[in-house]
Parts: sequence; structure tokens; C-alpha cells
Amino acid sequence: MHQHPAALGINQSPIDITLTTKISGNCVNNLFQYVTNEARFIFDTADANMEHEPNINGVPNPINNLNFVTFRGKTYFLNQFHFHNPAEHRIDGTLDSMEMHLVYKDVNGNGIVIARMFVADRNNPNSPDLELLFRKIAERAACTSTKCDVNGVFKLSSFIPPNLDAAPYYTYTGSLTTPPYQEGITWVVLQEPMKISLNDYAMFKSIDYKGQKIGKSRKTFDVANRVVLEVDQH
Ligand SMILES: [Zn+2]
Repeated sequence: MHQHPAALGINQSPIDITLTTKISGNCVNNLFQYVTNEARFIFDTADANMEHEPNINGVPNPINNLNFVTFRGKTYFLNQFHFHNPAEHRIDGTLDSMEMHLVYKDVNGNGIVIARMFVADRNNPNSPDLELLFRKIAERAACTSTKCDVNGVFKLSSFIPPNLDAAPYYTYTGSLTTPPYQEGITWVVLQEPMKISLNDYAMFKSIDYKGQKIGKSRKTFDVANRVVLEVDQH
């Protein structure tokens, strides 16, 4: 038996979102809202796959987790967020520098992931918020004890478009891109990338976890019969 049976499914992620895979949708039912108060996160490795797929997740305090999204009338609470380097989804064949994943779950465990591309360029300014965040992730990665609580307080709103309720996005049904590769995940890939500085990008790339880079990216998968909805206006 395959170690992760779900990975053999036909609705895997990431994908390349191309002209031929997407259809336009001006779908009022797709309205979503987002609340980002300053939130306290614990940075943790939080899974058993660290040897092969090391990453560091920012995990909100579940007691007062005010970060949620409503999508198609359902509410999902932030479960964790993390980064991939390089990005995982391609847009018309283009692969961006990084991709941020905000992973949400509803009360029944259904998942939705909001993805945002990060584009590094020498003309982009440093972001003190991003620098602080990457420093905390690096701090957690460098910790050699089995139990390390690295805490940080962030405004997640620094990393998403200010007008998320009106932000254009692509949406399709796929899978987690890390074990167990569970399908039935709703992806919301924001069209507007975040512009980051070469410094901030270098900082993430230099993070070392037991001799490995964190946030490896998975290859893209066939879209097959799936439809990617392009929502430009809500
Ligand atoms: Zn991810």
C-alpha cells in the first residue's frame, strides 16, 4: 500500500492555472470576509513528516482564534499558515518566488486554503512584519530541543491584500500539497501577489532545519476534468 493513498487521487494540488483550465466567474456566492486581529502564534513543526518535508507552521491559539474566512456561506477558522519556496501553483506557466498557505478548517474538518504568491524583486522594500515573522520561523528551526515554543504576535493582514473582500482570485478543488495529500480541499489562489524584497526572500531561503531547507514545493498535477473558476469581481 502506498504510504499516502490519497496522493494517488486524480484531484491533486498544486496545478498550473492556464488560459485553457480557467473559466470566468462573477460569482456573488463566493463572497468572503476575513478578520485579522493581531494574533499570537506558536511556531511548531507539528507533524511527523519533518524528516522528508520539513516546514514550520504558524499555529494560532485556538482559544481566541479570531482569524476566519467565510466562503460560499460557510465559516472556516485558521488552522495554521506556512510558506513554500519556490511557489507551488503556476499561473500561466509562471512560478513565483514563494507561496504562502493559510489553511482553514470548518467544524467538520473540511479544509480551505488561501494561497498568496510572493514575488521577490530588487525594487521592493523590506517588510519589518515579514522580517519579524521569518526571524521567528528561523528561531524555531534552529531549536534543537524536542519541545520549543517560539511565540510571536503578528498582524496576518500585513500579508494579504487590504481589500480581501474584493480581491480577484482563482478557485478549484484539489488536495493538500503535503502529507497526507488529502483531497476535497477548496483552493483560493489570490491573483495579486505580494511584492517582497530580495533581503526578506534571502532570509527565508537561508533558514536551515537540521541541514535541510524548509517549505519544499510539490510538482504540479494534471487538472484533468477540474474547472478553475476565475473570479475577478465579487
Ligand atoms: Zn502548503
